[in-house]
Amino acid sequence: NGEVIETDLLIIGAGPTGLFAVFEAGLLKLKCHLIDALAQPGGQCSELYPKKPIYDIPGFPEVLAGDLVDNLMKQIEPFQPGFTLGERAETIEKQEDDCFIVTTSKGTQHKAKVVAIAGGLGSFEPRKPAIDNLEKYEDRGLVYMVKNPEDYRDKKVVIAGGGDSALDWTVFLADVASEVTLVHRREEFRGALDSVEKVQELVEADKVRLITPAEVMEIKGDEKVDSVIVRHNDKARRMEEIECDAFIPLFGLSPKLGPIADWGLEIEKNAIKVDNTLDYQTNIPGIYAIGDVNTYPGKLKLILCGFHEATLMCQSAYQRIFPDKRYVMKYTTVGGVSGFDGSQK
Ligand code: FAD
Repeated sequence: NGEVIETDLLIIGAGPTGLFAVFEAGLLKLKCHLIDALAQPGGQCSELYPKKPIYDIPGFPEVLAGDLVDNLMKQIEPFQPGFTLGERAETIEKQEDDCFIVTTSKGTQHKAKVVAIAGGLGSFEPRKPAIDNLEKYEDRGLVYMVKNPEDYRDKKVVIAGGGDSALDWTVFLADVASEVTLVHRREEFRGALDSVEKVQELVEADKVRLITPAEVMEIKGDEKVDSVIVRHNDKARRMEEIECDAFIPLFGLSPKLGPIADWGLEIEKNAIKVDNTLDYQTNIPGIYAIGDVNTYPGKLKLILCGFHEATLMCQSAYQRIFPDKRYVMKYTTVGGVSGFDGSQK
C-alpha cells in the first residue's frame, strides 16, 4: 500500500528477547517497532509453553512463560512500540542513506537505521495439510492461524486438528461463528483435558459439531472456500461435503530460520554469527542478532542471555543512530521510580 513504517530500531521477532530490547532501547529514547510472523507476541514462551513454569529468571523463583510475556508487554508499554504481527520479514535492503528497508510477506515496508534480529529458532511456519491447490485458497477462506476472531462472526467455520490450538479456537469461536465443525483424524485429542471436556460440552449443547475420526480431503470453491470434503475414517470411508466460509487447519507450527538465511549474514549451525566481544553485531554493520538466533563461543539459548545481549546491543545501536551524542548510562531508579520517563538524560 506504499506506506513505510519508520522507526529508530527495527526488531525482527517479538519473543522475550525482542520485547526486552524495547525496554532497553526505550531507556535510551530509541523508538522501536517489532515484526513477528506469529499473531501474538512472546515467541516460544507463548507458542510452545505458555503454561510451563520457568525457574531461571532472576528475581522470579517461578513464573509461567505466558505471565512472563504479559509482564514484558507491561514493562515496555510506556515506550509505545509499534507491532507488525502475523507477517514474516522476507527481505532487507540497504539504502543510500544508510537505512535498511525490511519488507514482510504481506508487503509491509519498514525503515530503520538499525535492525536487530531476535528471530529465535526462526519464524514459526504452519504445518499444512496434504491437500491439493492449497495456495489457491490461502487468505481466501483458508488460514493457518486465527488473527482476529471477529473475522468469523456469524460465519460457518471448519477447524481441523487435535492439539490445544484446534481445541481452544473451537471453544472460542463457538460463541462467535454461526457454525463450528471440528474435524480430527483420531478419536483422542492431544490437547489439555480441560479443553477436550469443554469441546464435549459444546457438542452436547449442539454448539459445535465434532467429526472424528475423519480428515478434510479437499477444498471446493471458485474464488474462495465454499465447502470442504471430509472423509469419515470408518469402514465405509464415507465422504461428506460441509459448506463453510472458512477452513482453519491447526496442525501446529514448526520454526524455520527462513528468509533471514538469505540476507548475506554469516550463518553457523542454523544461527547467525555475532561479535560477542562487543555488541552482538553481525558481519553486516547495522544489523545485530540477539537471543536464540545468534551464535558465538559459549552461547547458551536461555531467556536471560537474550536479555543481556539485548541490553548491550541497544548501547551500540544508540551510538550508531546518534554518532554525535554521548550517552551516559544511569540506573532506572535515578530520578524516582519512573526514572525512565524522560529524566534519563
Ligand atoms: P523466540 O522466543 O524463539 O522468538 C523469536 C520470534 O521471532 C518468534 O516469535 C518468531 O515467530 C519470530 N521470527 C523469526 N523469524 C522471523 C521473521 N523472518 N519474520 C518475523 N518474525 C520472525 N529458557 C529459559 O531461559 N528457561 C526455561 O525454563 C526455558 N524453558 C523452555 C522450555 C521449552 C519447552 C522450550 C521450547 C524452550 C525453553 N527455553 C527456556 C528457551 C527459551 O524459550 C528461549 O531461549 C527463548 O524463547 C528465546 O527467546 P527469543 O526472543 O530469542 O526467541
